[in-house]
Formats: sequence, structure tokens, C-alpha cells
Amino acid sequence: MANPPIHDHSYRQFLRDKKLMGSRCTGCGAQYVPPRDVCAACHEGTMEWVQMRGAGSLSAFTTISIGTPATVAEGYDRNNPYCCAVVALEEGPRVVARLQGVDAGQPETIAVGAPLELVWESEGEAVRETPTLVFRPRVAESGA
Ligand SMILES: [Zn+2]
Repeated sequence: MANPPIHDHSYRQFLRDKKLMGSRCTGCGAQYVPPRDVCAACHEGTMEWVQMRGAGSLSAFTTISIGTPATVAEGYDRNNPYCCAVVALEEGPRVVARLQGVDAGQPETIAVGAPLELVWESEGEAVRETPTLVFRPRVAESGA
């Protein structure tokens, strides 16, 4: 794979290719998603790309009933709120993402700590110029 410079444009291009990429400091090992080109921990190491598996757990969330014009256009409103989450990736970094597969109208049913997985095909949504990270609850292996 090519090794593009570490910045947001490259990050978004990786997302369009269905890869969640971060940067890792070769000096201290700190990882960042979205990627940073300078390590905030040691300010010394050089940064390299590292791919995230796309698994994590729910760290925090909020439900949004009054969204932006873009989310309103997607059909979200007071009667159909959506859930915005902070996801702790297994590799360590935390990312902000849309949380689907939960009942945003009943936030008491959404459990912090729940295992999540990254999904690329979101429910009925058009592919955006800048893809939105979407996670869903990770279901146990059913053997199917
Ligand atoms: Zn570092």
C-alpha cells in the first residue's frame, strides 16, 4: 500500500476505502484516531499509519433530537433521534461515531461498556463525501 502523508485528507481517503486508520508514534507507541502528524505525548517520535480493527466498546453517548440540517435531511428529528457515541477502540484511541442498532428514543436501554463493531454500510444512508463512522452493537457469534 502507498504511504500517504499523515493528515485528514489521507484519513478520509482511507475511510472511503473502508479502512479506519490512525497514526502511531514510533517513539512512545501512542496512537491517534483521527491521525495526528505530531505525537501529543512525547513530541519526538515520527508517526506511521496503523489500521484499527474496528472493534471497541461504548464509552459515552448522547441522543440528539434536534440535529443539523444534514441529519434532518436524513430523517432524524424529535420523533426519530439518533445516537452520537464515543467509542473506545480496542487499540486504545477513542473516536466519535454514529451509533446505530440501538433505540435512541430509549437511551436507558443503551449500555455504556457494550461491545461495538464498525460497520461501513449504514442503514439506508447515501455514501457521503466524508464518510461518517458508524458503529453497531457487536452480537455474539450465533454459529449461523
Ligand atoms: Zn510519542
